[in-house]
Amino acid sequence: MQVLSEVLDRMVASALERKPIDRSDALSVLRSDDDELLHVVAAASVVRRRFFQNRVKLNFLVNMKSGLCPEDCSYCSQRKGSSAEVLRYAWIDAATASDAAERAVAAGAARICLVASGRGPSERDIERVLRTVKEIKERRPKLEICVSLGLLADGQAQRLLDAGVFAYNHNLNTSSSRYAQICSTHTYEDRRATVQMAQKGGLSPCSGAIFGMGESDEEVVDLAYALRALDPDSVPVNFLMPFRGTPLHGQWELTPARCLRILSVYRFCFPAAELRIAGGRELHLRSLQPLALHVANSIFLGDYLTSEGQPGEEDLAMLEDGGFVIEGRDDGPLPRPNRRREVVLRRRGPGTEKPADPMRTQGG
Ligand code: SF4
Repeated sequence: MQVLSEVLDRMVASALERKPIDRSDALSVLRSDDDELLHVVAAASVVRRRFFQNRVKLNFLVNMKSGLCPEDCSYCSQRKGSSAEVLRYAWIDAATASDAAERAVAAGAARICLVASGRGPSERDIERVLRTVKEIKERRPKLEICVSLGLLADGQAQRLLDAGVFAYNHNLNTSSSRYAQICSTHTYEDRRATVQMAQKGGLSPCSGAIFGMGESDEEVVDLAYALRALDPDSVPVNFLMPFRGTPLHGQWELTPARCLRILSVYRFCFPAAELRIAGGRELHLRSLQPLALHVANSIFLGDYLTSEGQPGEEDLAMLEDGGFVIEGRDDGPLPRPNRRREVVLRRRGPGTEKPADPMRTQGG
């Protein structure tokens, strides 16, 4: 049995030198007790501070085309056969996307992610995206644009790069050993090839994971190693949102502590990459979200592709309370959220006609 403090010391030392972490150390962290959680987070935060200090990058998703996907990724609300009541629409136009990007930048976003459902982009789709990128770039020449359009064909990455796209997102999502269990319409190898194609085409590779789909500790680590082999610049970590109407509806296996342990292992594995807490942040980290910012250095602001995130003001307040600053705000800080509220005087409980605990009266 390994002593956790020694394990963490080794992992911090390796991460600070950007060396690979030991597999058994990663497993020890994933299997550590909840009462050791703060030690794990503190160790991961040493690495986070070394490479990113107190900065948090804000990203904003623009869902360019929603629903009606022919693929069958079982976690996805837009999959073939999904009865989730998500918005379904064909491509939004360049002006609508550009307006959304403007609002996101005003709220603090440093990166815009243009996402479309589907197996991969046709030539016409690429043309549409290029028009949108041009329109956004005319207004915000320095804004980082990431696109996520599925499996790429030869030459498409280069065209996106030439138009001013900075990054391409394509997640591996889960380990190779269980990929066939979550999707039958494309393979893990297809996904890996697209990340490599984006990278070869000159785009910054963004590739990450979804946890909470029944994966074992070993598979969490397998995926970390597989992603590391692709050398991504950014690593989004999603926690399963089990949408009603999808095969994984009802699958709630994560705890906030488990999410923090996974994020910490990924921080040790990707010390200098942008580690982004993506979908499921609010649902699974719950009241421990602020702790996760000591491990990850990037979040999405606002809504996800088909579900709502917490209000942007709450994210900004969380950052401010934790002493974090927003990456890329060289034009000055954002207006501080108005935190002053009136004290609410008590009108319930003993001495009044209203009961003290509304939860108790609901239950009878
Ligand atoms: S993850 Fe992408 S490819 Fe898979 S079903 Fe959803 S939209 Fe389609």
